[in-house]
Amino acid sequence: MNRIFIRGLSLPVKIKGVTVVDEESDYNVYINTRLSAATQQKTVKHEMTHILREHFYDNEPVVYNELEANAGA
Ligand SMILES: [Zn+2]
Repeated sequence: MNRIFIRGLSLPVKIKGVTVVDEESDYNVYINTRLSAATQQKTVKHEMTHILREHFYDNEPVVYNELEANAGA
């Protein structure tokens, strides 16, 4: 249904955040609560860029999509 759920979760420090598309086509964004508030905000923006740019449905290399999300384009 393309709903977006953003949740905080304690993750290993190397992981800033992750987005999972579930079987209902909803986006589940998990942000690492062990990071600073500023980093968490940046990570939400990063993951939102992936969603808005439909990176989960294109066939571009992951590295390309990561650069695009980091640019916030
Ligand atoms: Zn990313």
